[in-house]
Amino acid sequence: MKIPVASLLPDEISGSVRLRHKYQGTQIFKWVQSGTLKFQDMTNLSKVLRRTLNEKLYISSKLEDTLTDSDGTVKLKIKLEDASFIETVLLTDRNGRKTACLSTQAGCGMGCTFCRTGKMGLKRNLKSYEIVEQMLLLVSGYGRITNMVFMGMGEPLENPENLRKAIEVFHHTDGGGISLRRITVSTCGIVPKIYDMAENGPHIRIALSLITADPVLRSLLVPVNRRYPLKSVKDALLYYQEKTGKRITLEIVLLKGVNDRAEDMERLLKFIPPLKVVVNIIPWNPAEDIRFNEPSPSGVLRFKNMLVKAGVAVTERYRRGRGINGACGQLCVIDPVLK
Ligand code: SAH
Ligand code: SF4
Repeated sequence: MKIPVASLLPDEISGSVRLRHKYQGTQIFKWVQSGTLKFQDMTNLSKVLRRTLNEKLYISSKLEDTLTDSDGTVKLKIKLEDASFIETVLLTDRNGRKTACLSTQAGCGMGCTFCRTGKMGLKRNLKSYEIVEQMLLLVSGYGRITNMVFMGMGEPLENPENLRKAIEVFHHTDGGGISLRRITVSTCGIVPKIYDMAENGPHIRIALSLITADPVLRSLLVPVNRRYPLKSVKDALLYYQEKTGKRITLEIVLLKGVNDRAEDMERLLKFIPPLKVVVNIIPWNPAEDIRFNEPSPSGVLRFKNMLVKAGVAVTERYRRGRGINGACGQLCVIDPVLK
């Protein structure tokens, strides 16, 4: 049986192919991680070795379709071996900096009421090599990527071991060498896994989909709040911050008339200290079959200014990728645009 190569570290490649020289494992790792997906193109290896690699190793995912939005955002539809589909997004900012938005599950079982991926339910966890292959498909098509966010389909901390292995590969100096400061894992708040990351690493940046600091409202919007209430999430984040010194991102998907009221702001301002945070405001992106209202630009600005006035660092996530249903919360593979 062939072995998926994408998440093998240099030593693991050497072991699986029984290479004569250790450095060859590093050579192959470098080729793969720089987006060379065909062994025959690995020109500094002998032809015999390239053939052996082809017989023993493989890339499991297939690029099914690519959509490009007018704002430059790219969405890949990827077919997995069991014919599940996932989506991956590439965002390029004004300075040309590229950020990969990766999926960790096919679907998601957390059921947040404002999120289209949540509507799909969970199909399955992705393997570590399926997480890495998303990156490889992006790198092979669009070149070097310096930042990554786990904000695609799924709840990353429900699949922590595969996530951990993928990050180890991305961070490896002979591969992408992506700094842990440039990797963000977004979670709806899986408390034990936050402690686990604090203890055992990797010490990436954590973003919490807080949405609201009102416990009753949060339980309605983010059902996992019933299992891991806000107080326990906050304690876990404080512990993570103590261990890592990292600022936490709090994501507020702004839903007009639901979590953008004066009392929501009051609760939010009470929730924050002593956490060191940056609040990321994400105007809700509409998605089929989900009934919420988008906040108006002036509503977003009002919310933002209140935070600024209270001395809280705040960023607004731009509505990129909406033309291709590639913005936050819109990823879903029964997407009619892609059919
Ligand atoms: N499961 C993780 C990561 C994937 S969701 C999490 O929930 O954090 C990535 C981000 O998209 C989260 O911040 C989530 O709150 C946000 N999101 C979900 N649906 C959205 C929508 N319809 N509009 C805008 N953001 C949304
Ligand atoms: Fe899952 Fe995140 Fe969507 Fe909630 S917001 S359903 S955790 S992907």
